[in-house]
Amino acid sequence: MNEQLRADGSLRHLITLENLPRPLIERLLDRAQSLVRPLGARPPVSRALAGRTVANLFTEPSTRTRVSFELAAKRLGAEVVNLEVQLSSRVKGESMLDTVFTLQSLHIDALVIRDAEPGVPGTVAAHVAPHVSVLSAGEAHVGHPTQGLLDALTIRQHKPNFEKLSIAVVGDIRHSRVARSAFHVLRALGVADLRIVAPPALMPEPGEFPGCARHTTLESGLKDADVVMMLRIQTERIAQADLPDAARYYASYGLTSERLALARPDAIVMHPQPMNRGIEIASEVADGPRSVIRDQVRNGIAVRMAVLNEVLAGRSAG
Ligand code: ASP
Repeated sequence: MNEQLRADGSLRHLITLENLPRPLIERLLDRAQSLVRPLGARPPVSRALAGRTVANLFTEPSTRTRVSFELAAKRLGAEVVNLEVQLSSRVKGESMLDTVFTLQSLHIDALVIRDAEPGVPGTVAAHVAPHVSVLSAGEAHVGHPTQGLLDALTIRQHKPNFEKLSIAVVGDIRHSRVARSAFHVLRALGVADLRIVAPPALMPEPGEFPGCARHTTLESGLKDADVVMMLRIQTERIAQADLPDAARYYASYGLTSERLALARPDAIVMHPQPMNRGIEIASEVADGPRSVIRDQVRNGIAVRMAVLNEVLAGRSAG
């Protein structure tokens, strides 16, 4: 049984996309799609989560994810508190679970957690009261499930036939939670040709990303790809001495218009942001006609609304 699900199959926690049933993923994507509005239009608002409280606990920097979780909760009528507490065991003082129990006593219904240490969202989820949901907003290098869902939604809007797609994920795969969540969701949706493209030092361990073709050159990895997902080098997870030289990295792995021409003519370009222009991607590509990077941000809030609605509105009254 997937421990993130309730007995009735609805979603209670969202810690990982690994082994999430395809119908549930599709339900979340459909729901999110119904909440997407064109820029400039009034965003959807409801009172579906009136009386519920969502706490954002972020101990790593975040712009898009934190703001969009906050706006998503507010647009569904929930109250939001943003806390600067340190949850991970690296921090002395009040233990992680004491903090969580304090929040629980304050009638918090959902904890949205970002932390640099692996395992924090899962540990919290294992200890909260039955009415509390835990949502990962980025767990170390391990997973970033709402990012995976928004990436899948963005791809689906342009290329709905997942089974037929060739998708290249390029960059620091080794340290990327975005790549891991993309792998889980895209596999679940039936993508067969999923490639990871990285210099040898940034490749994941053998055995990770099973079934993905590994390419160490951008030229071979991009060939005829329908989707190109660029990633940032996770400098915060790499020792200074091991960091690749930015200029040399760009020369071999930077996505320029010339290199993008190796992919299919209608290929889309994605990036979870923050982007390092001139390191992993050229501005002409990031801002060019094939870029869907801003769509990803817009889809992020719709996905987070769909997830919050699923975990909170779906639970029994109380
Ligand atoms: N914003 C994404 C994350 O939190 C990607 C990145 O930081 O490179 O993982």
